[in-house]
Amino acid sequence: MLIIGGGVNGCGIARDAAGRGLSVVLAEMNDLGWATSSASTKLFHGGLRYLEYFEVSLVRKALIEREVLLQAMPHISWPMRFILPYHKDMRFEAETPVSKLLSFVMPWMRGRRPAWLIRLGLFFYDTLGGRKILPATTTLDLREGPEGAPLDDKFTKAYEYSDCWIEDARLVVLNARDAQDRGAQILTRTKVTAAHRAEGLWAVTLQDVRSGAERVVRAKMLVNAGGPWVGEILQDRVHIDTNEGVRLVRGSHIVTKKLFDHDKAYFFQGGDGRIIFAIPYEGEFTLIGTTDQDHGSPEEPAVCTPEEQQYLCDFANGYFKQDITREDIVWTFSGVRPLYDDGASSATAATRDYKLNVKAELGAPVLNVFGGKITTYRRLAERAMEKAAVFFPGLRGDWTAGVPLPGGDFPVDGVAELQARLRAEYPFLDEAWAGRLIRAYGTEAGAVLGDAQAADDLGRDFGATLSEREVVWLMEKEFALSAEDVVWRRNKLGLRMTAEQIVALDDWMRARAER
Ligand SMILES: Cc1cc2nc3c(=O)[nH]c(=O)nc-3n(C[C@H](O)[C@H](O)[C@H](O)COP(=O)(O)OP(=O)(O)OC[C@H]3O[C@@H](n4cnc5c(N)ncnc54)[C@H](O)[C@@H]3O)c2cc1C
Repeated sequence: MLIIGGGVNGCGIARDAAGRGLSVVLAEMNDLGWATSSASTKLFHGGLRYLEYFEVSLVRKALIEREVLLQAMPHISWPMRFILPYHKDMRFEAETPVSKLLSFVMPWMRGRRPAWLIRLGLFFYDTLGGRKILPATTTLDLREGPEGAPLDDKFTKAYEYSDCWIEDARLVVLNARDAQDRGAQILTRTKVTAAHRAEGLWAVTLQDVRSGAERVVRAKMLVNAGGPWVGEILQDRVHIDTNEGVRLVRGSHIVTKKLFDHDKAYFFQGGDGRIIFAIPYEGEFTLIGTTDQDHGSPEEPAVCTPEEQQYLCDFANGYFKQDITREDIVWTFSGVRPLYDDGASSATAATRDYKLNVKAELGAPVLNVFGGKITTYRRLAERAMEKAAVFFPGLRGDWTAGVPLPGGDFPVDGVAELQARLRAEYPFLDEAWAGRLIRAYGTEAGAVLGDAQAADDLGRDFGATLSEREVVWLMEKEFALSAEDVVWRRNKLGLRMTAEQIVALDDWMRARAER
């Protein structure tokens, strides 16, 4: 099986397929997860707002999946509580089926979201997904407690519900690593430039994007998990005519210095019917997003425009006491959602569910992946294997539910204990450093540090607690090739390192790779 695309879906499929005994090659033209899969809002969530589109099946699937995933990766994912402040002026997006229904039966509401409806939605959210670990929704008085302190005084009441945080870029890499451990070949900086059917197989041309060198590999089945490029791959590489497509919808986030002092996130509803999140991020920061903007082509770089930055500041300013301006933004990131084109009239309304289709009429099969969410990647891989089983008779059954990713073999509430053990073993680590290592590597944190007795034994210090030994681990085990791979995807130390430190790291990595 040859998989095009090293995002969450490609890597999830590679892991699942390799674990079933298939011979797997995955080709990624850049770094793993560099495109959409490192630019999400980083939530394993059911998607509360999709209930307004009656996407009950998607929400249910995703809600159930949250706890399955949490248990398999308790280092890179954790439960998070969300505060949804209520105010009577909150409005629906006019397009949603629930909004249309409500305007019909209760026209005097004029598009407002009534409190009882939000509570009803949260009741479904709590019950649809069979929660065991995550606590239920509660009602909060914002005039008391830390949750109300940073908000405007007009917000006196809120609901508090559960979802989970996920380190999206690490999720991708750990799936790739596990796939490799199970026999898959993971090729990064490798572009699929052409694929032709010949004698019942695919002949696929792979190009090393750094040297330009090309080679051809043969595969029985092709998987097109190109995310925003899925349509381009179908038309220009695989040469299949189809009227199915993706709708490219850009979403941007801004990061500011932290705006509040607790570990819960906020879910804000705007006057335009949209919602945004404000989430505690990397200890000292707040992450705010996202936007929904139609995006021209996958080749167009995804950047957070000044207008999007202003929109997110204004949105947050409607809630926080402390106003933020574009000057307060320390980092932005943008990604393009490859949504299945179902003809929806607005970007916000386009379905977030995935669609898989197989084209096999002309010989060797190609499986195309449209849409999907980080939250449903494992389920999507299982469904992909169901489709593949037709062409690989005797393929083993589902196996990934409950099987930990590398470093994730410990209980969901076991982080504090692991951290304490790591500090006992490596007394030179302070609390924050040990915490960062456990959150990144889980039970493998000790293997990253090896036999070090003191910080000096870890080799060169690149800044912000990034040591030579850790960088070597990332290069040898986690496919990192450049400083950007390390400081913006394997971790987020780019927020703490200076530009000079990042350049020095890049020079060091390049010299090591050449050696
Ligand atoms: C702003 C935003 C917020 C989101 N928030 C959430 C969230 O909170 N929770 C959630 O569950 N989901 C969220 N999502 C959705 C989720 O991020 C995406 O559905 C998911 O990341 C898509 O993964 P993918 O593997 O299909 O695509 P990608 O991650 O884009 O991967 C596709 C890969 O294919 C590679 N590729 C393309 N063409 C070729 C070629 N010819 N040769 C080799 N490689 C190629 C690309 O380089 C790319 O790396 C969000 C999305 C966005 C944009």
